[in-house]
Order: sequence, then structure tokens, then C-alpha cells
Amino acid sequence: MINKTRLEGKVALITGGASGIGEQAARLFLENGAHVVIADVQDDLGQQVVASCMDSKICYSHCDVSNEKQVEEAVSFTVAKYGSLDVLFSNAGIMGPMTSLLDMDLDAFDNTMAINVRGVAATIKHAARAMVAGKIRGSIICTASVAASIGGAGPHAYTISKHAMVGLMKTACNELGAHGIRVNCVSPFGVATPLSCTAYNLEASQVEENCCATGNLKGIVLKARHVAEAALFLASDESAYVSGQNLGVDGGFTVVSHSYS
Ligand code: NAD
Repeated sequence: MINKTRLEGKVALITGGASGIGEQAARLFLENGAHVVIADVQDDLGQQVVASCMDSKICYSHCDVSNEKQVEEAVSFTVAKYGSLDVLFSNAGIMGPMTSLLDMDLDAFDNTMAINVRGVAATIKHAARAMVAGKIRGSIICTASVAASIGGAGPHAYTISKHAMVGLMKTACNELGAHGIRVNCVSPFGVATPLSCTAYNLEASQVEENCCATGNLKGIVLKARHVAEAALFLASDESAYVSGQNLGVDGGFTVVSHSYS
């Protein structure tokens, strides 16, 4: 029987929770007993997700993660609304334009860094402050990517930002362990979401076909829900001694040779 109480009594803040991986995580965390705050810039979409859950244990808070004040407010809102902050799923991100290095737009580069690196740093900072203040042995999970391990799996700035995110996770793990706070990443490979479909200008089915063709694990299509399941494990007490890890949800893509596939 599936245990549906893996996050019973916990409060989770999920950035980028209005769509894709974050939305699936919001639904899954709620199903598993958590109180959930979705923080995003797509207010209508975020409110729709909340309305569709028909549950007072989930709500929405507008938050652009590149704006530190809004991040601080989203954390304060979460603690005021549900009394605590036990889990941060720092998942909001953008991919940015797909250009040659020779044509790299450095304003777009700065925007990617502002959201994918500075934004994640801000969420970790303010969530950790709340956890330390509340003496919460919390869990922080960031959505990195296979692009955090290899080059060429996304735009240049995106790849750099996801490598930086893993560094951020490790340095946060180093400091926050003293407070009993765990910090980890999940690194997906190719999920059909608005982010990937827009970046590659493909339909969802085409993203899935392309990733199945280049992936290692045949016979299964990676869905946002699979990534959410990995985040659920890292959020729950089942991973009580797991910290400082970058958990690939990539069917083995980053560790095998593709020469013979
Ligand atoms: P998505 O487009 O479905 O969701 C991204 C969400 O982030 C959206 O709701 C968007 O509004 C929100 N967001 C963007 N900028 C924001 C900001 N400044 N402040 C707050 N929210 C913001 O895409 P997704 O694929 O679910 O992406 C989620 C995460 O997964 C991203 O960090 C992405 O880099 C990562 N990822 C995705 C894939 C993939 O194949 N889809 C692979 C590896 C990593």
C-alpha cells in the first residue's frame, strides 16, 4: 500500500509551482499531507492550480525569485499562513535563448543568472533563516538539470547557471548541516513542459520522442511527476541522512556512453 502521509505535518514552499515540475510537486506534496504554498510569477495559472485542488492546505503567493524582497515576503507569508517552513523546493527557472556562444546575448545571460542562480540563492537564504529561527530541521531541494553536469544540454547561460546551482547547494549543505537542515538537488533530463517546449520550439510529444531517442532508459517517458517523486523523497524523512547530493532523474543519461546506443 502506498504511504500517503510522507509529509504529514510539514509545510512546503514551492517556487515555480504554477506549471510543470513545480505544479506536480505541489499536487504530490499536498496528497502526502503537506501544507503547500505555490510561489510563482504566473498568478492566474498558480491560482488555477490551487482552485483545482479544492483544499485549504494549499495556497498561492506571487513571487518573482529574482526580487529578494518578494522572496522574503513569500517566506514570511508561508510561516504566517501555516505556522512553519519545513521544506523549500526551489524549482523556478528559465532556459533563456538558444544561441551560439559567438552570438551570446549578455543581457539574456544576466537574466538567466538573476533567476536561476541569484533567485535560488535568495530562496535558500530566506527559507534557511526561517528554518533556523523556528529550529526546524528542514529540507531544501533545488531543481538543477543534466545541464549541471555536462555541456551542450541547454543554452550556455543555462548550463553555467545550473552548474552554479549545484555549487550553491554544496556550500549551503556545508553551512546549514549545523542546523540540521539538508540541501540537495534533483536533476531532470527532458520533461515536456512549457519551458522545454518553448526553448526547443517543439510540441510536448516531440520533446518526449527526442528525449526517449537520446536517453538511456528505454520504454519509459520521463514525466514531471517522476521528478516530483524524487523531490518528495528528498523532502520526506525517508531521506533523513541525505544531504549535499545531486539526484539525477535522467534514466542514467549523464553516466553512460552514448556511442553505442
Ligand atoms: P515550466 O515552464 O513548466 O515551469 C517553470 C515555472 O517557473 C513556471 O511556472 C514559471 O512561471 C516559473 N518562473 C519562471 N521565472 C520565475 C521567476 N522569476 N520567479 C518565480 N517563478 C518563475 O518548466 P519546468 O520544466 O517545470 O521547470 C522547472 C525547473 O526544472 C526549472 O528550474 C528548469 O530549469 C528545471 N528543469 C527542467 C527540465 C525539463 O526538461 N523540463 C530539465 C531540467 C531541469
